Amino acid sequence: MSGLKKNYIAGEWVEGVSGEDNINPSDTTDVVGTYAWADSAQTERAIEAASAAAPAWGQSSIQKRSDALDAIGNELIARKEELGELVAREEGKTLLEGIGETVRAAQIFKFFGAETLRLNGEIFDSVRPGLDVTITRAPLGVVGLILPWNFPIAIPAWKVAPALAYGNSVVFKPAELVPATAHVMSEIIVNAGIPDGVFNLVMGSGSEVGTTIVNHQKVTGISFTGSVETGQSVARGAVSRMAKVQLEMGGKNPLIVLDDADLTTAVDCAINGAYFSTGQRCTASSRLIVTEGIYDKFVSSMRERLSTLVVDHALKAGTDIGPVVDERQLQKNLDYIQIGVEEGAKLVYGGERLSRDTPGFYMSPALFIDTSPNMRINREEIFGPIASIIPAKGYDEALAIANDTDLGLSSGIITTSLKHASHFKRNIQAGVAMVNAPTAGVDYHVAFGGTKSSSYGAREQGSYAKEFYTTVRTAYTQA
Ligand code: NAD
Repeated sequence: MSGLKKNYIAGEWVEGVSGEDNINPSDTTDVVGTYAWADSAQTERAIEAASAAAPAWGQSSIQKRSDALDAIGNELIARKEELGELVAREEGKTLLEGIGETVRAAQIFKFFGAETLRLNGEIFDSVRPGLDVTITRAPLGVVGLILPWNFPIAIPAWKVAPALAYGNSVVFKPAELVPATAHVMSEIIVNAGIPDGVFNLVMGSGSEVGTTIVNHQKVTGISFTGSVETGQSVARGAVSRMAKVQLEMGGKNPLIVLDDADLTTAVDCAINGAYFSTGQRCTASSRLIVTEGIYDKFVSSMRERLSTLVVDHALKAGTDIGPVVDERQLQKNLDYIQIGVEEGAKLVYGGERLSRDTPGFYMSPALFIDTSPNMRINREEIFGPIASIIPAKGYDEALAIANDTDLGLSSGIITTSLKHASHFKRNIQAGVAMVNAPTAGVDYHVAFGGTKSSSYGAREQGSYAKEFYTTVRTAYTQA
């Protein structure tokens, strides 16, 4: 197959068992490329290669690893326009968002390049005379990385970079919908001088490539980002063979707006958090919990601001919101609009399929008001440009509603009260708490992750990443 983008297994670019087209959601006549899908046997070969390469890589010079990661970061920055466009083309977020995501990926590689040099241990006196005790961190060996589609380059970076930094070899499986950016990122990694077998790219389905990674005895650790349902099945498979596992999953993130909030800040944060990146962020503000005194003003300002947002082709100048990622997700969003209406929520803006100059999966951002916490639209993750406003009497009720969910990824409060902001940070049941800032958009040098069903296992990002990608070793020495 000419032009087929191949998998990278054991130091070679190899064809798969089929070739799948990657379609641009802004224009379904635009095929971004055709990508080779691997099967179980090829995935097993990648795992065997990673396993064979792991001991030498784990003991390689930290300078060598640091230099390689830094070089990958530099190359990503140098190619940010090209890669940003590719992200926008295959996923549907805007060009600016795509470029921003590429820069973020670069920063992550450069951060972990430096982290490689900072990995340290501890020395203890022993309770027994004459003994020294040292604690050091060792790589896990082979890590399997299973990715979602909504951040085609940033999430791969925040898994691949720490995995390599701390001396692990990698089997990397991008999401089916977004192999293009992952493929270019893989070329850049391979060209940075990573030894054969240390990094493997295996594209394909979750049911074949994903389950092979989860069930293979030689994969010592699995880092997964995706839906709660798939995460639970990944966890069951990993735990059944005692593999280390880290899961980042869905959100139903609350943004509380109190009477004393600055209205412009509240609307800015709600619009950004709920609708940018087409609402397809695990940290999106899908529940806007608004107290009585500001409710009417907030609703009318939101409607006004929504009417200014431009939904169009992701690469078009002036587009604020690109298309939904695919037909399946668009249909799911429209089904939830119907569910919300049937539940008695008032749809005051959007929620319709749109047509544009090119055939794509366009949808107007939707706002429900006067909703109640028990409605399905307020309990289930939709993963689209849809938000609901839930009224609350005051702060205490707003906090109780915010915590009334099985998920606990991000959260936010808009207030000028130090008392409420401080109380919120201590009492919100979420891994991330924002005060006067959007629930989506986090820094790369600090821990990221949630509580309840949103996350499982060690946190990702920042130096906390080593908790997953290394194992602690305790050594006793008799002098
Ligand atoms: P998904 O669960 O459908 O797929 C995620 C990955 O798992 C894909 O690569 C898929 O091929 C693979 N997979 C599917 N079945 C598998 C199986 N049985 N075994 C192993 N792997 C399997 O999720 P998605 O639709 O790609 O992503 C959207 C979800 O990701 C949303 O729920 C979103 O909230 C979540 N997400 C979470 C975070 C976070 O950091 N918490 C970040 C981004 C996205």
